[in-house]
Amino acid sequence: MAAENLHELFVNELRDIYDAEKQLTKALPKLARAANSEELRAAFEEHLEVTRAQIGRLEEVFKLLGMAARGKPCEGMKGLIEEGEEVMEEMEGSTLDAALIASAQKVEHYEIATYGTLATFAEVLEMQDAKDLLGQTLEEEKEADEKLTAIASQINPAAETEDQEEGEEEGRMVAAGARSIRGGSSSGGRKNSGGSRSKKR
Ligand code: FE
Ligand code: ZN
Ligand code: FE
Repeated sequence: MAAENLHELFVNELRDIYDAEKQLTKALPKLARAANSEELRAAFEEHLEVTRAQIGRLEEVFKLLGMAARGKPCEGMKGLIEEGEEVMEEMEGSTLDAALIASAQKVEHYEIATYGTLATFAEVLEMQDAKDLLGQTLEEEKEADEKLTAIASQINPAAETEDQEEGEEEGRMVAAGARSIRGGSSSGGRKNSGGSRSKKR
């Protein structure tokens, strides 16, 4: 009985991530186009290829189950992608890149959670081949996340300087204001830095 329930849950999660990965094959080229950093652009393009291979692996898992590969709309990934698209419209430069990385890491963590769950379920269900396939993808998602962390360590300081320069362009008073706010909390405070963060058009 319990195995039957877990089996159904396993199939549900599999369909969820199958759809999520397909959504990503459409979103990653947009992220790549939006990125300013060559390294970030290359990372998104590389992850697109990795994602295509992951879809192939999911299809193998469906085959092991004796089922047709079929997705069910993943609302979680849809929301994460929509948030990423908002960022593209609202930001630019290194700040945009920092925001793209933040969005992409949320995606990677969603995937890490799902593949971790799926690999565990496969193990409990004694589907060793499926577990190996899902575990392989889990490792790739972790690598992608770590790579983004490494790129962020270069981009975040650039985004910090960019904000300062923009403030100076717009006037010393505003720049001084932005600096004093920057001394406060690292993320929440920046929301209130007013004029210095207004969009350039
Ligand atoms: Fe993936
Ligand atoms: Zn989902
Ligand atoms: Fe991924």
